[in-house]
Amino acid sequence: KSDMRLDKFLAHTGFGTRKETKDLLKKKAVEVNGVCVKDGKFQVKPFVDQVAVYGEVVAYQEFIYLMLHKPQGVVSATIDNVNPTVIDLLTPAEQNFEPFPVGRLDKDTEGLLILTNDGVLAHELLSPKKHVAKRYEATIEGIVTQEDSDAFKKGVVLSDGYQCQAAELEIVSVMPDEGTSSIFVTIHEGKFHQVKRMFEACGKKVVYLKRVAMGLLELDPTLPLGNYRPLTQEELNLLK
Ligand code: URA
Repeated sequence: KSDMRLDKFLAHTGFGTRKETKDLLKKKAVEVNGVCVKDGKFQVKPFVDQVAVYGEVVAYQEFIYLMLHKPQGVVSATIDNVNPTVIDLLTPAEQNFEPFPVGRLDKDTEGLLILTNDGVLAHELLSPKKHVAKRYEATIEGIVTQEDSDAFKKGVVLSDGYQCQAAELEIVSVMPDEGTSSIFVTIHEGKFHQVKRMFEACGKKVVYLKRVAMGLLELDPTLPLGNYRPLTQEELNLLK
């Protein structure tokens, strides 16, 4: 691990924003290898140099892994000029890690989104070769039938001619009076608006979409909409 600025090191270990860490340094609260350092630009070697704040040695943390229950109305990007982003939901201290969303959910899609700064893990989960399963719960305008389910299994052809990979469509219930259906669908690729376009190809419309699992990781059912929390070690192991 290469050298890094002391203020960034502190930010990455939960001591707050650049401003907050600067105050700590000014107060002479920070020691590197037993020597007081006040300069945030001071270079430290994570895992090698011993950094202490008010005499307590701090453990360096390189990566952050969060499970977000994404609400509608926020976009899964790091920067957007118009809409709030999923990164805006985080605290400044968490934003210091420079996390990004693993994959995309539409603005009007809810559910499981992993936020991390671990590029290797993100790449593994998004690599088309890995075919990581993504499971969605949806409400469909129209009556979903066994024929739709069979079509999904064979691979739906989208309006632009793209032949989708096999997907599993599970009909939970149909409401003939309302003309809607509740379903689960699992896809193994992640094209733009994929689930919506798959149903469009069957002449039906997705009116509600929520991702409930990615690979073996399931959205924590106790995590309220719009909230997030760190992944547990067990959950992280499920992704690796
Ligand atoms: N498929 C979609 O159409 N939208 C999403 O947000 C995710 C999958």
